[in-house]
Amino acid sequence: MYFQKDIETISKNALHLLQSERLKKTLEAAATTPYYGKLFQEKKIDISKIKTVEHLKDLPFTTKNDLRLSYPDGMVAVPRSEIVRIHASSGTTGKSTVIFYTMKDIDNWATLVARAMYSTGARREDVFQNMMGYGLFTGGLGLHYGAEKLGCMVIPSSTGNSLKQLQLMQDFQTTLIHITPSYALHLVEVIKENGINPHDLSVKKAYFGAEPYSESTRKKLEEQWGLDAYNCYGLSEMNGPGVAMECINKAGMHIAEDYYIAEIINPETGEPLPDGEEGELVLTHINREAMPIIRYRTRDLTRIIPEPCSCGRTHRRIERIKGRTDDMLIVGGVNVFPSQIESVLMTIPEVGNNYRIVLDREEGLDRMHIQVELYSKLFQGDMKALKKLNKEIVEKLRALITINPRIEFMEPGSLPPSEGKAKRVIDNREI
Ligand code: AMP
Ligand code: ZN
Repeated sequence: MYFQKDIETISKNALHLLQSERLKKTLEAAATTPYYGKLFQEKKIDISKIKTVEHLKDLPFTTKNDLRLSYPDGMVAVPRSEIVRIHASSGTTGKSTVIFYTMKDIDNWATLVARAMYSTGARREDVFQNMMGYGLFTGGLGLHYGAEKLGCMVIPSSTGNSLKQLQLMQDFQTTLIHITPSYALHLVEVIKENGINPHDLSVKKAYFGAEPYSESTRKKLEEQWGLDAYNCYGLSEMNGPGVAMECINKAGMHIAEDYYIAEIINPETGEPLPDGEEGELVLTHINREAMPIIRYRTRDLTRIIPEPCSCGRTHRRIERIKGRTDDMLIVGGVNVFPSQIESVLMTIPEVGNNYRIVLDREEGLDRMHIQVELYSKLFQGDMKALKKLNKEIVEKLRALITINPRIEFMEPGSLPPSEGKAKRVIDNREI
């Protein structure tokens, strides 16, 4: 039934004690880092006064921007020789959020992922095809190590190359997949186009994550593929995938509470909200050596489900992520801030002042299309020059955000002028 019964069914009191102890250790480690050392001093925070989980609210939040400011290693709590791996948040430049791991951190992460996979019914007999990106992005390697720890046979097929994915599924009798819901929508079409009924494949389970999607998308994908799909949540700042995952009941995601303290706050005021109320998820990693991060504002909106789960696991659950409080877009699993696009456009002298980002979903794949106003004299320019300019913009954007947008040039004044806060993103995708 359980992978680690004692910890998965731990009593409320014992969990509180464990979390409080681990929090104290985490704060001691954090205080040795340049970032938190300075912060605690400046804000006159006496960490010896933080004794239990309840005191957490007296500590300041950490934001994505704080991580950027402490680039490259201002939050690292161990010597460089202890670090065995780094990851970085997807879709951003090098100077963004880099996460460090010791050997123990990697091993702990693998354990919590293996445990979460086990709770969905995955076993060592499973053949696990991991169709998430391998590399700096945590989606690929995160579940990879967990699945190996569980004893599955892992096919590290990464994203794309749909025919190859299909062939691997057939040749190795894949039973379990990890994939973004948008890619799953596309891949199932490719499978059908090849004359294969997806229900005839051996795939029986899927983990969908890395981007927001709705319950109706889950249902649609389950029907089309003929499988059970489980929601998998995570973010690189907190290791990566596995932070919270659905159990066999598919009713909210159990947070790995021996690794994370979860709070829900009012995103406007920062005040903690009681279980059951919707707000922004704030996470503190309490079982990590290389990079203790305290009260990290995820910007993800959800609520804690107060009722216990009938699976017997006592770790609290969060509901499906409703959206984000900032303007970060997730396009095909890649994080993109509109400001990154703007930073590229505005370095190009031919580009005028107005632009618009349009997002659509075609055949299950996210498409980005950017409408860019050009200065009038250039707009009259010859086709060759315009083509060259178009290519230049696409290449610069691809280098920064790793996705391939389509650029459409517009006459000056043809896009709606902004009144007050500019509405630069039109998101036509249905989640
Ligand atoms: P990254 O920094 O690339 O790891 O991206 C993390 C972000 O992806 C999270 O903060 C969420 O906004 C989003 N995300 C990850 N998993 C899910 C999920 N299962 N449902 C909704 N959004 C998700
Ligand atoms: Zn459960």
